[in-house]
Amino acid sequence: MIFNMVSEATEEQINHIVSRIKECGYEAHLIRGKERTVIGVVGNSGRHRSELEALSSAPGVEEIVKISHPFKLAARSVRPEGTVLDLGKGVTIGGKDIAVAAGPCAVESPAQIADIAAKVAKAGARLLRGGAFKPRTSPYSFQGLGEEGLKLLRDAADKNGLLVVSEVMDPSQIEIMLPYVDVMQVGARNMQNYHLLRGLGEIDKPVLLKRGMSATIEELLLSAEYIMAGGNYKVILCERGIRTFDTYLRNTLDIAAIPVIKTLSHLPVVADPSHGTGRRDKVAPMARAAVAAGADGLIIEVHPDPERALSDGVQSLYPDQFAQLMQEVRAIAPAVGRRVP
Ligand code: PEP
Ligand code: MN
Repeated sequence: MIFNMVSEATEEQINHIVSRIKECGYEAHLIRGKERTVIGVVGNSGRHRSELEALSSAPGVEEIVKISHPFKLAARSVRPEGTVLDLGKGVTIGGKDIAVAAGPCAVESPAQIADIAAKVAKAGARLLRGGAFKPRTSPYSFQGLGEEGLKLLRDAADKNGLLVVSEVMDPSQIEIMLPYVDVMQVGARNMQNYHLLRGLGEIDKPVLLKRGMSATIEELLLSAEYIMAGGNYKVILCERGIRTFDTYLRNTLDIAAIPVIKTLSHLPVVADPSHGTGRRDKVAPMARAAVAAGADGLIIEVHPDPERALSDGVQSLYPDQFAQLMQEVRAIAPAVGRRVP
C-alpha cells in the first residue's frame, strides 16, 4: 500500500502519517518526488490494516493505492513518472539521457585499463566498467586483481572523467569497494544472495542489479526490493540474458524484459548485450535493439586486445567497434525520444 500525499502536504502531515504507519506495526518509506511525496507501507507483521485505510481522509493525503504485486517499493505506482538517478559527474540514468558503461570484463593491468578507459571515454561512454573481484565458473580461471584492480580502475576513470562500475561479490567487499566505486554491480550469480542485497540496502550508493541467468522478472524485482527495503532506493536493473533451450549463443538477451520492467517498475533498466549474447558480432545489433526497446543505458565489454583478454575476450568489442556502436546508438536514440549526451 502507498500513500500519495497532496503536493502541498506539510511536513507535519507527512510525519503524522509516518508515525501512524509505525504504530500500526508496518515500516514507512518516504519517497520524495519532484512534485509530491509518496509514503510506501511495507512489512507483514502489522495488524491494524483497517486503521491504516481509515487514514485516506487524513489531512494531506490524496489517496491510498494498494499494490497487488509482491514487490512494493520497486512498483511503478510508487513513482509513475519513473526514477532518475544522479550518478555523479553530471551523469543521470532513467531520464532522457542514455548512460553507457564500457570497459573490459576484468581489470588486468595498469596499461590495459588506462588504454581502454581513454578509448571508451573518447567514444562517449560515461562509465568505466571492469571487474576486480570476478565470479568465474571455474575456480582455476583468473579471479581478478582485487583491491589493486579497484585502484587502477579509479585512477583510469578519473583521468578520463568517467564514473566507475564494478562488481561486489560478497558483503565483506562492500567496505573495501566504497572509496573506489560509483556504482556497485551485483552479478547474475549473486542476484539472490540476500545477505549481499541487504548489505547494499544499507549504503548510499547506486546498485546495478543484474538479472540471474534463470530468474524471472518478478524475482529480479523482488531482489531490488531487498535493497530498497533497507533504505537504498538507488537501484538500476540490468537485463543480461537468460538461459533458454537455445544453445547457439551464450544466453538469450530478453529484449522484451525491458518494456515489461518499465511497465512494472519505476527503476531504470540497462541492457548488457555482451553477456546477453557472448559473441562479439551480436553485441551491436542487440545494443541497438535494447535502446530502441526503451533501455535507459547499456553496459558493454570492450578490450584493447580481445584475443589476449583474461576473461570474456570472445564477446569483447574492439575499441573501433565500440566507437561505431556509439554512433549508431546516437542515431537511434532520438527516434525513441532519447539522447546520448
Ligand atoms: C560481468 O559483468 O563481467 C559479469 C560477470 O556479468 P554477469 O554477472 O551478468 O555474468
Ligand atoms: Mn564478463
